[in-house]
Amino acid sequence: MSRLLAAAVCAALSTGAIGAPARHAQPPEAAPIHYRFSFPEPQHRWMQVEAAFSGLAQQTLELRMSRSSPGRYSLHDFAKNVYDVHAFAPDGRELETTRPDPYGWNVSGFGSGVTVQYKVYGDRVDGTYLAIDETHAHINMPAVIMWAHGLDERPASITFQEPAGMRWRVATQLHGSQLEFTAPNLQYLMDSPAEFGPETIREFTVGPRTFRFSAHHTGTDAELDAYVKSVEQIVRQEGAIYGEFPEYEPGTYTFLADYLPYASGDGMEHRNSTVMTAAATIRDQRERLLDTVAHEFFHCWNVERIRPKGLEPFDFDRANMTDSLWLAEGFTQYYGPLVLQRAGLVNLPDTLGSFAGLVSSVTLSPAHLVRSAADMSRMAPFIDGGRTVDRTNWPRTVTSYYSFGGAIALALDLTLRDRSNGAVTLDDFMRAMWRTYGKPGGSREGYVDHPYTIGDAEARLADVSGDRAFAHQFFAKYILGHDVVDYAPLLARAGLQLRKRDAGRAWLGDVRVDDRGGAVYVSTLIEPNWPAYQSGLEQDDELRQVDGQRVSSADDLARVLARHKPGDRIPIVFVNRTGRAAATDVVLAEDPHIEVSAVESMGGTLSAAQKTFREHWLGQQP
Ligand SMILES: [Zn+2]
Ligand SMILES: [Zn+2]
Repeated sequence: MSRLLAAAVCAALSTGAIGAPARHAQPPEAAPIHYRFSFPEPQHRWMQVEAAFSGLAQQTLELRMSRSSPGRYSLHDFAKNVYDVHAFAPDGRELETTRPDPYGWNVSGFGSGVTVQYKVYGDRVDGTYLAIDETHAHINMPAVIMWAHGLDERPASITFQEPAGMRWRVATQLHGSQLEFTAPNLQYLMDSPAEFGPETIREFTVGPRTFRFSAHHTGTDAELDAYVKSVEQIVRQEGAIYGEFPEYEPGTYTFLADYLPYASGDGMEHRNSTVMTAAATIRDQRERLLDTVAHEFFHCWNVERIRPKGLEPFDFDRANMTDSLWLAEGFTQYYGPLVLQRAGLVNLPDTLGSFAGLVSSVTLSPAHLVRSAADMSRMAPFIDGGRTVDRTNWPRTVTSYYSFGGAIALALDLTLRDRSNGAVTLDDFMRAMWRTYGKPGGSREGYVDHPYTIGDAEARLADVSGDRAFAHQFFAKYILGHDVVDYAPLLARAGLQLRKRDAGRAWLGDVRVDDRGGAVYVSTLIEPNWPAYQSGLEQDDELRQVDGQRVSSADDLARVLARHKPGDRIPIVFVNRTGRAAATDVVLAEDPHIEVSAVESMGGTLSAAQKTFREHWLGQQP
């Protein structure tokens, strides 16, 4: 970035425009890059791309396919689906390309411009890749855009060409209309997915803002109409948390939904839009789909504008890393179910089930003893869709920053409410983050000028709570440290009881086994906090006997355990995968799985104070 900024400033000086904003300078090398997308054979799931670069001053043009995609934290190496690459000089002469690495094509000897033509195959409907068939082109830009080093600040334009005989239209956050669109720079271009097809579009306004919902689905118009009403409720409740909506640069915010039998489940946030995909229908999975809506829309503040420093700007040559996904993703994960509850779109037991899931993901796993919430964020490049073939021991050492951060958000919200008697909440913290880091925006569209650090987040918690020592201790223990919040007394303030779901039940650990021809093999990693761990039993071992009985199925194992109580010592016999037999004793524990329930649903009485606390927290916000 610094190299390009310097170029712009030099151009401003040479034209005598001293004191004028540098972005108004138009050096000759700022000629727009023009892309044309066409679809000669949509049934074969590939597209033709032409990219025209002009006004070039460099000797060699380093053309690249991205390795990463905004909002996805791992590498995807989009070059793998690109083929039939040809580059041409302005006079039509074909140019030789060389391959400096697996991700790019270099071209030289072109004069002042290069036009490159290539094909891209794509068959995955989600928020990261490309999917083409006769019903649509579902486009994540990094999967199709060949860009060039050093031209990040150039504007781009895209012409979409309909397949022969099709009447398709474009839904996107790009600027423009019909089949012609533009982006002010590479960052914005890559962040702007497009749905190109005969999709259905609904529109609604909340205050001064307009929202569009583009749906490619198998349901009815009536189902979509009712669904979009719920989406509007979510938008209103999230707007109430921040007190305002961001300025959406194209003038609208666009939801891009593909609910198709062959879609992969995903949600991907962008600055002024989101892509949501699922192998589901609105009729059958309404709540689950709305949970994704609530999560992704919350990102138009948290991540898209309140952005962790490590994600700004996105690097298309390598994976970005941040220590703050517990806040960027985790807090968003907490607000999803919370907002559905506030909007009256789900029942209380469902919401409490979501919260219990967040809490137990941390409390039942030994991973937080190994890695802090900040450390888990740094694992994202290996986890978020990243694929390698070797085994990991993540069940013991990694808890997802989604649930880990969600559990931290729940703890922080309840702690703030508890210590201030409801006067200060997590909503106040999010608003403070918005006002300091999000709302000031960026001097260039698609950029965030004030990304935050963990220290910044701690400082805002100190402001909001009015207690610097509290903020410091919270971060030291729960974000950077290995402590876990005691949730039961916090939930009790809202008349909610956290208790063991199967109290009194004997537990060997969440050991899963596969039956294979009458023999039983362990199919999970054995975690250090399970009774089975001390016996030496491990994944792939054959479990022969438990409590003196031959075990030949998962049901056999369950039946033996059901006869016992916590504290019982029972013998087990197994053969490990090297062929060594072992016989040892295991002391069974009590099943630690938890649930969260409303006291009144368990025959208790909800006090007036608990009722008020709960309503302020989970009730509709004004
Ligand atoms: Zn589609
Ligand atoms: Zn997210």
